[in-house]
Amino acid sequence: MNAIHVIHPQTGSAFELKKGEILTVIDPQGQQVCDMVLFNLNDHKEKISSGKTMDFEESILISAGHYLWSNRSQKMMAIKEDTNGRNDFLLAPCSPETFQIMYDKQDYHPSCLDNLHQNLLKYGIGIDDIPTAFNIFMNVQFSKSGKLKVFPPTSKAGDLVRFEAKMDLLVGLTACSAEDSNGGTFKPIHYVITDAEGLINP
Ligand SMILES: [Zn+2]
Repeated sequence: MNAIHVIHPQTGSAFELKKGEILTVIDPQGQQVCDMVLFNLNDHKEKISSGKTMDFEESILISAGHYLWSNRSQKMMAIKEDTNGRNDFLLAPCSPETFQIMYDKQDYHPSCLDNLHQNLLKYGIGIDDIPTAFNIFMNVQFSKSGKLKVFPPTSKAGDLVRFEAKMDLLVGLTACSAEDSNGGTFKPIHYVITDAEGLINP
């Protein structure tokens, strides 16, 4: 049994997480973003909502002590621990167009949207069903006037965020593919699933 699941650089993963289980997302080398999307396992039309989360948590900086809410105003996850403390919930997953529009790259470039779609396809999730992701470790700064800028993550090797599922979930995760979000290099993401007692599930 391999307790630590590895998402290789510029790839993704999708899996089921039962109510009460704990998902720990780890940045093993530091400065690597992980996009996370959530769906109700039993009804995929219910999914993670950036707007509902910021509304109910009254913050645009979501971290330990906050919940991640669905488009139907239900709690999907509780954030139990966040050793880095900086995540983003404003920006959509990087997509092929991101690299054309913002990087002026016309050739194929891996992206979180593609990696989420490829891994969620077997659960029947279409590309247009993928919502704004909770961008773990992503460091987006904003000025008083509303100007946004993406900086390298502040996460160091071994930083982690621990989530508790509040309903049965389908989870999509990536190791983000965008140069600017990850300090210019692409690293893996690790994750571990445990039950409520902290015992490791395969
Ligand atoms: Zn990305």
